[in-house]
Amino acid sequence: MNESTLEVSKIGWRFDNSYVRLPDMMLSKISPIPVKKPKLIILNHELSKELGLDFSTISDDYIASIFSGNLLPKGSESIAQAYAGHQFGHFTMLGDGRAIVIGEHLAPNNKRVDIQFKGSGRTPYSRNGDGRAALGPMLREYIISEAMHALGIPTTRSLAVVKTGEQVIRETSLPGAILTRVAASHIRVGTFQYVASQGDIKTLKALVNYSINRHYPDYKDTDNPALTLLKIVLKKQIELVTNWMRVGFIHGVMNTDNMTISGETIDYGPCAFMDVYNPETVFSSIDYHGRYAYFNQPGITKWNLLRFAETLLPLIDNQEDKAIKIAEEIINGFDSFYKNHWFRMMKKKLGLFGEESEDENLINTLLVWMNQNKVDYTNTFCSLIDEDLLKEKPFQDSIFLNWHKQWKKRLKKNKQPTESSLSLMKRTNPTIIPRNHKVEEVLKAANVNDDLTLLYNLLKVLKKPYENQLNAITYKSPPTPSNKKYQTFCGT
Ligand code: AMP
Ligand code: MG
Repeated sequence: MNESTLEVSKIGWRFDNSYVRLPDMMLSKISPIPVKKPKLIILNHELSKELGLDFSTISDDYIASIFSGNLLPKGSESIAQAYAGHQFGHFTMLGDGRAIVIGEHLAPNNKRVDIQFKGSGRTPYSRNGDGRAALGPMLREYIISEAMHALGIPTTRSLAVVKTGEQVIRETSLPGAILTRVAASHIRVGTFQYVASQGDIKTLKALVNYSINRHYPDYKDTDNPALTLLKIVLKKQIELVTNWMRVGFIHGVMNTDNMTISGETIDYGPCAFMDVYNPETVFSSIDYHGRYAYFNQPGITKWNLLRFAETLLPLIDNQEDKAIKIAEEIINGFDSFYKNHWFRMMKKKLGLFGEESEDENLINTLLVWMNQNKVDYTNTFCSLIDEDLLKEKPFQDSIFLNWHKQWKKRLKKNKQPTESSLSLMKRTNPTIIPRNHKVEEVLKAANVNDDLTLLYNLLKVLKKPYENQLNAITYKSPPTPSNKKYQTFCGT
């Protein structure tokens, strides 16, 4: 179906599709499969505005038709993208198995974004999947991706969730839904792996140039575009994973197909935020060996970048030996680059300016204490900001008190006023994260009772994660200890 009425043309879509012009092997031109009875569950008004889209004169039913793929807007050219990926270390051919990019929209600031439906039916890459998605996981992605955005962490965004009016069969029968994902692009490390695996150097070159033009146009004219791209992506991914570490985010499925070239967080399947500080935390039910545990995330980022570098070798230099040497040099820089970046971030969490010899030890001592005493990661840093909270029991421990004294002593060496230090800590340490038990509560109410009030309440507090929202106490409290380990499930 095509856009037909005047009202719909007022929405403000500005499609300018470029990926679809890339070589055929990289995509399939297909449309979303219409659904029975689309119903709008949530529309992201703030994001709509940012994108220059106005739905204020459009009925919910019409909006639901659009975001279910039943009514494609004019200018859309829908595609499923081919990609490959190392999943838990094993190479597989993949692709958008249940997602379709309906086009690239230009926001008023000319920022180009992919508009993608997730759960819009089977594609040539679906393998044995049904191409569909369930309401719970789509709302979960909506909540967590929007929380990440508010936390200031690069991420894909969520524009809308609609129910399809159809059931999807998982372990039980669940209401089906489609999420509209907005991303700088969906180019992944896995996209490069796919093209490289086909041995098509010309297409690989086209993909490198396309990626630079689209994401890093300032670096358009360098001698060695592939090398330039590798360096930029390394930097972007280090910044990203440092941000994850900062807020205790555990991605859960850092396969190479879930690592973007844009540096945005993508794929909110099994992710979750750590509450009690334990570097070995894993939430994903299928991550048996802790490959994607909290403390492994930087190492896996490096591993994925190495896979990325491998795909670029033929373009880095004609001579393989030479290309490997050059790429290795860059990847070998990861460790110290990450460490410095992480260290600077941790200093911000503690409000430290300048450099003192005791800094590293101060940070590590606190982390070890947090781990041994099973304290809440987020709230511990909040307690350093708000001294009243330090009256709580875990902080009466002598090791902590001694650490606190050392920290205070170190703060005096800041050549900045106390207010600057406090303000730095407040900007770096969130008070509110999407806590797993709160997210579960919301999803249960939405799924079982069709009640969206809890969802709206949660989304509201998550919008201002660095503010001391006095009325948000229930969102700040860690879950009451339970014997049942919190688990997340992938791709549902
Ligand atoms: P993910 O775990 O979301 O990164 O998905 C891994 C791969 O499986 C991707 O290629 C997805 O498109 C595909 N996939 C996940 N769920 C489904 C589904 N229900 N139907 C078809 N393909 C799927
Ligand atoms: Mg994925």
